[in-house]
Amino acid sequence: MKIGIVGCAGRMGQMLVREVLDNEGMALSGGTDRIGSDAVGRDLGSLVGRTETGLAVGCDPSELFGASDVVIDFTVPAATIQHVEFAAANACAMVIGTTGLTAEHEALIRQAATRIPIVRAANMSVGVNLLFAMVEKVAATLGDDYDIEIVEMHHRHKVDAPSGTALALGKAAAAGRAVNLDDVAQRVRDGITGPRKAGDIGFATLRGGDVVGDHDVIFAAEGERIILSHKASSRQVFAKGAVRAARWIQGKPAGLYSMRDVLGL
Ligand code: NAD
Repeated sequence: MKIGIVGCAGRMGQMLVREVLDNEGMALSGGTDRIGSDAVGRDLGSLVGRTETGLAVGCDPSELFGASDVVIDFTVPAATIQHVEFAAANACAMVIGTTGLTAEHEALIRQAATRIPIVRAANMSVGVNLLFAMVEKVAATLGDDYDIEIVEMHHRHKVDAPSGTALALGKAAAAGRAVNLDDVAQRVRDGITGPRKAGDIGFATLRGGDVVGDHDVIFAAEGERIILSHKASSRQVFAKGAVRAARWIQGKPAGLYSMRDVLGL
């Protein structure tokens, strides 16, 4: 199975190159990065601290898509949209981890997914995707006497709050209760807030240090609490999930898939 990595010089890109090199039954077909990147022209193996592969980092993705069964993309939205076009033109499957996509970008991806299979997920961690499914199930089972609160902590550089994953956990809980998250989300509390409103889904955000990503979903009732917790200690979990998605997508019909599809949840 031939896997190409676009954005191969990035933090995630380098992890993905190593992950593919370490996976039996997978061959690296090449890697590209943006025009002007220092990595262009370097050997892909030595770029990521491994032995030389004989593949030089390129900056023209057109050939890479022709030479790959699946291309994994953790870049920037503008690049991802171009890559999706190359993938559709070359009948190459894609795994997209890029975040910050607008509704317009999403529409272009959906359009391309009528021609090729695409897995797209804002969080590729297998554990977090399992947590989404568990939270939905637990919320549906417990009913409204359990107050749902979501606590997340990330490193000091994170600029958005609550995290996209915390909001996705809130959506999963809301889906379990058959309500819309926007109608019940309590994203900030400060001052004299009054008592908690029944049915709300609350969020609390902590920031500090180098925390990769901690999420707790708390179901609190009179007499007991259930806490579902996930802690990411390395970004490697995202690369592992993406490579698992690449393995899964080969041979699938055209369509837009999520990690929940990949994991059969
Ligand atoms: P990064 O800045 O380290 O890497 C991005 C790479 O893309 C850079 O090397 C950059 O030069 C390259 N790039 C930019 N334009 C390009 C183009 N036109 N062609 C080829 N390469 C191009 O960022 P990162 O931390 O690796 O994150 C990348 C993306 O992945 C972000 O959107 C981030 O939020 C997302 N991400 C998603 C998950 C997930 O699980 N889905 C996990 C971590 C990060």
